[in-house]
Amino acid sequence: MATIDGLPPLREVIATHGLSARKALGQNFLLDLNLTAKIARAAGDLTGCDVLEVGPGPGGLTRGLLAEGARRVVAIEKDARCLPALAEISAAYPGQLEVLNEDALQVDWAAHLTPPIKIVANLPYNVGTELLVRWLTPKTWPPQWQSLTLMFQREVAERIVAQPGGKAYGRLAVLAQWRCSARIALTLPPEAFTPPPKVKSAVVHLTALPAPRFEADPKVLERVVAAGFNQRRKMLRAALKGLAPDIEDRILAAGLTPTDRAEQVPIEGFCALARQIAAG
Ligand code: SAM
Repeated sequence: MATIDGLPPLREVIATHGLSARKALGQNFLLDLNLTAKIARAAGDLTGCDVLEVGPGPGGLTRGLLAEGARRVVAIEKDARCLPALAEISAAYPGQLEVLNEDALQVDWAAHLTPPIKIVANLPYNVGTELLVRWLTPKTWPPQWQSLTLMFQREVAERIVAQPGGKAYGRLAVLAQWRCSARIALTLPPEAFTPPPKVKSAVVHLTALPAPRFEADPKVLERVVAAGFNQRRKMLRAALKGLAPDIEDRILAAGLTPTDRAEQVPIEGFCALARQIAAG
């Protein structure tokens, strides 16, 4: 069966290169090129952009990104078994695909790309949250990337876009929405993947804002949010006790109530609290 890029269908690619999925590497492959093109489109216009992809696997999403007009794709893949399949894509798109056979947690990815940069990935579940937090917490803002379009387990996606007042609201929601706009672009059933995972998945699209919504030192904010949600059933005055001796006064000065719980505090409140704590 012909495909839009003239390369073999993904089922054939997997069979030819013996790419049986490995659980330890979080391998759940997308084999429908219409679906991978749809995910690529969720990243917006890719023409003129360099794209960072983590975990290309057999290359379904990579092909979607290139077919949708990405200027270049830099793909970081830990599993060397995938390299021959990815080399076939490089040959079909000369000069447009660079594959790094590395661990995404160890690579200085920005050195390989030229702005404007978008990050698009069907992330391995075991390192997905760690990568997201790193992308969200660079020393300076705006970051080197314009947007993140990332597949997660749906429960993680819901935590990223969560609003105050519910169980899903926590560290990920505050870190993501403080400096980005975030929304769920699409949800996918387990059957969309080979092998199917146990849970549903969702693609989250985050766009970097030009500046944070509220002023705060990122390191202090991270400490406040970590302490607040680490003991989420406790009231703020107890959960944040270790951050300052007069924490109750600082909570009040931030316009918050010491008996509130972290999940009731909006991002603005955490930022006010971080400013009070940074004031020394
Ligand atoms: N993008 C492909 C797709 O959509 O079909 C594969 C997605 S699969 C969920 C995750 C991919 O990430 C696998 O190919 C796996 O080998 C790779 N991977 C796992 N851990 C990694 C790491 N630390 N660094 C880079 N790639 C990793």
